[in-house]
Amino acid sequence: MSGPAIETFPVGPLHCNCTVLADESTGEAVVIDPGDEPERILRVLTSMKWKPIALLHTHAHLDHITGSRVVKEATGAAIRLHDADRQLYEALPEQAAFFGFRAQTPLPLDAPLSDGETIRFGRFSLKALHTPGHTPGSTCFELEGDVPRLFSGDTLFRRSIGRTDLWGGDTEAILTSIRERLFALPQDTAVVCGHGPGTTIGEERRLNPFVGIG
Ligand SMILES: [Zn+2]
Ligand SMILES: [Zn+2]
Repeated sequence: MSGPAIETFPVGPLHCNCTVLADESTGEAVVIDPGDEPERILRVLTSMKWKPIALLHTHAHLDHITGSRVVKEATGAAIRLHDADRQLYEALPEQAAFFGFRAQTPLPLDAPLSDGETIRFGRFSLKALHTPGHTPGSTCFELEGDVPRLFSGDTLFRRSIGRTDLWGGDTEAILTSIRERLFALPQDTAVVCGHGPGTTIGEERRLNPFVGIG
């Protein structure tokens, strides 16, 4: 069985990588981090006739959640986020004010994401891995199947890691999350990062200056 269709594109002024995954045989889809430009995300969904059943958030920083309201209102997809980031999610207007602009109050979460949970769409599934550190509720999503792939949010970047100086950040926690959860994945796992270029787990294990273990 080949994998799902995957479309990744940067959205918003902070270039958050938004990803749509879909089972093309059923049209069932999920959206990871509808962080901004909801019209563009909806255009991708509509043009491909994909129906999102869930909006999955790697964490609740504004650049990952600002488009969620409009995408939810247009599609009815469930808004999913780890409960440890709920307070940050609800503070979207304050996060926006901090950067000098305005944002509407976010819609209520539909269901919390829990560690180890499987999110199914058509014949495919993603597994949620709670990886606290960048924020308390940071979660990565592992695509299950023959071709290993990880959506790492702002936890792991190519040759870098997420900052931990913002609200709820914890340096020890992010290092533990990466070393114990992410580096335990198959070495050839392709990683789609929350910002910037992708990488693989094996490359970061060897070469990441913050967490590489050689
Ligand atoms: Zn972030
Ligand atoms: Zn971000």
